[in-house]
Amino acid sequence: MDKKIPYKIYLKEDEIPTQWYNVRADMKNKPAPLLNPATLQPLKAEELEPIFCKELVRQELDNDTRFVDIPEEVLKFYKMYRPSPLVRAYFLEEALGTPAKIYYKFEGNNTSGSHKLNSAIAQAYYAKAQGLKGVTTETGAGQWGTALSMACSYFGLDCQVYMVKCSYEQKPFRREVMRTYGAKVTPSPSNTTEVGKKILAEFPDTTGSLGCAISEAVEAAVTQEGYRYELGSVLNQVLLHQTIIGLEAQAAMKKYDIKPDIVIGCAGGGSNLGGLASPFIGEMLRGEADYKVIAVEPASCPSFTRGKFAYDFCDTGMICPLAKMYTIGSQFIPSASHAGGLRFHGMSTILSQLYADGLFEARAVEQTSVFEAAQLFARVEGTLPAPESSHAIRAAIDEALKCKETGEEKTILFGLTGTGYFDLAAYASYNDGTMSDVIPTDEDIAASLAKLPKVE
Ligand SMILES: *Cc1c(COP(=O)(O)O)cnc(C)c1O
Repeated sequence: MDKKIPYKIYLKEDEIPTQWYNVRADMKNKPAPLLNPATLQPLKAEELEPIFCKELVRQELDNDTRFVDIPEEVLKFYKMYRPSPLVRAYFLEEALGTPAKIYYKFEGNNTSGSHKLNSAIAQAYYAKAQGLKGVTTETGAGQWGTALSMACSYFGLDCQVYMVKCSYEQKPFRREVMRTYGAKVTPSPSNTTEVGKKILAEFPDTTGSLGCAISEAVEAAVTQEGYRYELGSVLNQVLLHQTIIGLEAQAAMKKYDIKPDIVIGCAGGGSNLGGLASPFIGEMLRGEADYKVIAVEPASCPSFTRGKFAYDFCDTGMICPLAKMYTIGSQFIPSASHAGGLRFHGMSTILSQLYADGLFEARAVEQTSVFEAAQLFARVEGTLPAPESSHAIRAAIDEALKCKETGEEKTILFGLTGTGYFDLAAYASYNDGTMSDVIPTDEDIAASLAKLPKVE
């Protein structure tokens, strides 16, 4: 071990960032605006405000303010679990026999078990500040629903969660954590909404999808007085809140004169990757530094690597705005794989634009190789990683093994977004050797892309 670099690097309380970073301020090509699905015109704040909290709409549309103050109440809540540690993965380096230096930013150190709490508490705060009664949302694997339940209970808000049916059934313990924090959890599709009834009529055996749960949650928000909808990924506001990850990582690295060569994050809707990487990408956009940034997605739901950069619906029910993003089609229903939080068909519009402009690369990895990486990481670094996070571990290990071949001493930073205690059914199928790699065929993807809305 290097005596100068501790195993865990913590910031002191007065070193924690007090502002989020808005990478859009540094982008020459701004992300394309959300469109009204009926008129195909850019959405105005007045049209978004019946769905989202007012301040969050402002953040969503703000392409210019570089730094945004984190509200005092949110900073106070952050103290319960932040700063998150930046860990030097000495044990993993040793196990791999690599000259690379590997660091990970660990966001699993809170009850929700993931980075999602960073945005949940901000979104709940703005709902409370607006005087709302409650919020609705969807959850896939359950991390976002858990995070929002915790945040709502802190501020005394009602929380209604539509949970993708297969997760509702596979992950009863997640459901109970949410209920413990006072949330009402409904499996989706359900017959409590019009859009849910329609989907059930067409696909009675569906195990649900994130896109479908979003449609239900939005409908529930707009049809109840004093409610708004909140989303845990994809949106610009979520990326903004998640930059606390990258800003802390940058500050911790600066303390020890560490400069990463490679920054890696798993990509579902893009919030942790955007949160970790955008402060570094900002330096690239301003011409101050250069990094290799890698997005890692599941081969079962490959938005960046096999999708199209086009306007698409964010939800299966096609009631949400259109976003220009890398998408494999809103009608794509991914196989019931274990990459729960990475099963969204689309991607953040900010990351999509940055990817189109060549600021980072993307790769898709297969499920069994992800769990192989997860198992090694658990055994040598001690933490049981979430399957989603393990996509980033896979890529970090692959990059470190490349360094072993070439002898290069690269510095690798990756986001360890959460823990896997609620994903033991997935670990069981890996341990039993029954896990398979389901990869959509070109025909599957082409069929889904053929249903993209015609815009332009
Ligand atoms: C939700 C989730 C992700 C993926 O979501 P992003 O918005 O792409 O970050 C990754 N890891 C964990 C642990 C999650 O809960």
